[in-house]
Amino acid sequence: MRINLSKRKIKDPFVAKVEELSGQNLLACYQCGKCSAGCPAVSNMDILPNQIIRYAQLGFKDELLQSKSIWICASCFTCNARCPKGINIAEVIEAIREILLRKREDHIKVNKLSDAEKGDVPPIAIISSLRKFTS
Ligand code: SF4
Ligand code: SF4
Repeated sequence: MRINLSKRKIKDPFVAKVEELSGQNLLACYQCGKCSAGCPAVSNMDILPNQIIRYAQLGFKDELLQSKSIWICASCFTCNARCPKGINIAEVIEAIREILLRKREDHIKVNKLSDAEKGDVPPIAIISSLRKFTS
């Protein structure tokens, strides 16, 4: 993946938002890699947990929001337990997911469905979609 580092990215409000939502100090990470070394899902990730923290520090918003790793993470908290700096990596990943979900880009537009279509869509899909409007 080609990385475009710029001062503008580092100052992007995205960095502060990730810190606010996760309650973590991203700059505390010194890239030891222990989080990635213990992650059971790492073989399916396109950005490793330690890289997620690095990208978040540097404001690589698009790369993180498009990453499949944020959905692969199972929130098992192994990384949190292993981090020598006490950073809760799982919360950082959750914060990135939350930023994406708050954009409310749903595949299902419940208010545009006809009554017949609402009858066909699995109830859990409608509930999940509505939940995003209540956060
Ligand atoms: S274990 Fe902690 S300090 Fe080490 S790379 Fe991961 S987040 Fe950074
Ligand atoms: S919480 Fe997510 S990133 Fe951390 S070890 Fe578990 S699967 Fe990996």
